Order: sequence, then C-alpha cells, then structure tokens
Amino acid sequence: GNIEMLADESFGILNKGQHELVEDIQISTTRLIGMVNDMLDITKIEQGKLDMVCEIINVNDLFHSIIDDLADYAKRHNFIISTNLQDTNTTVFGDKIRVRQVFQNLIDNAIKYGRDSGLLHKSSCIEGDHVKFSFKDSGIGIPKQEQSSLFERFYRASNTANLASGGSGLGLYIVKSLVKELGGDIWFESEENVGTTFFVTIPRTK
Ligand code: ATP
Ligand code: MG
Repeated sequence: GNIEMLADESFGILNKGQHELVEDIQISTTRLIGMVNDMLDITKIEQGKLDMVCEIINVNDLFHSIIDDLADYAKRHNFIISTNLQDTNTTVFGDKIRVRQVFQNLIDNAIKYGRDSGLLHKSSCIEGDHVKFSFKDSGIGIPKQEQSSLFERFYRASNTANLASGGSGLGLYIVKSLVKELGGDIWFESEENVGTTFFVTIPRTK
C-alpha cells in the first residue's frame, strides 16, 4: 500500500529515476508476495488442508473480471487475449478464488511464454457433467521430451532459460492440484515454436 502511494505520487512528484526505482520495488514485492502465497498453497495442498467454499460460478463474468485484472500486464507484453465462450450463461461449480487462480495461472503462462503480439484464445464447451476450457497460445511451446515433467514442482522447461520473464516452476503444480481438488482434469498439447493448448475441465454441479 505504501509503495502504491509513493508510485501514485501521493507524497510528491517523483523524477524519472525515482519512478523507475519505485516501479522495480513494486514489481519485486508483488513477485515475492506471489511466491510466498504459492509456498503456502503447496503446504496446504500437501497437508490436505485446502478448504474450498464451492458455489455456482458464471464463467463469462469470471473471465471478464480476470481479463480486466490482467489488462495492464498483457498490454506490457503486447499480448491480446481473445475469447470464444460458447454461452454467456455457462456456469461451473467450484471455489471462485481457486477457479480464478487456475485460469489466471494458465493465462499468465501464455503471456510469459507466448511471443510478442501473442494471442491467447480461450474457449469453453459443455462435455457431459463438466465444462471444458481451452487456452491456446502461439508461443515457444514445450519440447516433446520434457512434456512429461511439466506438472512437477519447480520444473521449468529448457527453452525458457533465455527468457526475461522468470518463474519458479510452481504454477502448474498448484494448478493441477487445484483442478484435481475441484473434481476436474487438466492436460495439454504442445509443439515447440508453434504453441501450446491447455485443456481444463471443471464440474458443472456439486
Ligand atoms: P511460476 O511459478 O511463476 O508459475 P513458471 O511459469 O516457470 O513459474 P509453471 O507455471 O509451473 O512455472 O510452468 C512450468 C514450466 O512449463 C514453465 O517454466 C515453462 O517452461 C512451461 N510452460 C508452462 N506453460 C507454458 C506455455 N503456455 N508455453 C510454453 N511453455 C509453458
Ligand atoms: Mg507459471
């Protein structure tokens, strides 16, 4: 909060150098908070203490709220998020915060590992008792021989080594655990230098 007030210049005008410093502090702090939350989530998952408060969630509303939240971040990466949600009334049954976390992580990956001017295409369709979501990017892809390790803790593919945007390799491990806990499934198809599509299913009812 204090850093935000500094960045907003609530305490006085900042020069260019000070602005850059405050921005760096803001980015690093957000990243640290994210890492701490990831570690806490992993501890909860491994101790079976993930408490879910489930309710009916309107998918369309949830996506629009996520896109609003990620708008600045996507813009900084020249990334366009396009949606093709089949029906604006589609709902799933789950913990809103956790479902949001799953989608946000997948979109964050698509932005980080997509190329400049990358376009993420999200779609959904009803398959029996579940809604199936796909997140398709045209980014760096995942090398075939590494694909079986992707959901492991701390795993990062070798083709991310030279990228400016780092990560700790915890996102997908958490996502997979959350999806399992929600009663759904997750898998992907990927080709190096062509792109990746993640598929997630979430139950429609209790
Ligand atoms: P963080 O903990 O911040 O999410 P991360 O993004 O490196 O770090 P994961 O989200 O778990 O970790 O992803 C693991 C690895 O899978 C990534 O490092 C990357 O190599 C690969 N990966 C994930 N999503 C994609 C994608 N859409 N395109 C290409 N590679 C991907
Ligand atoms: Mg990630």
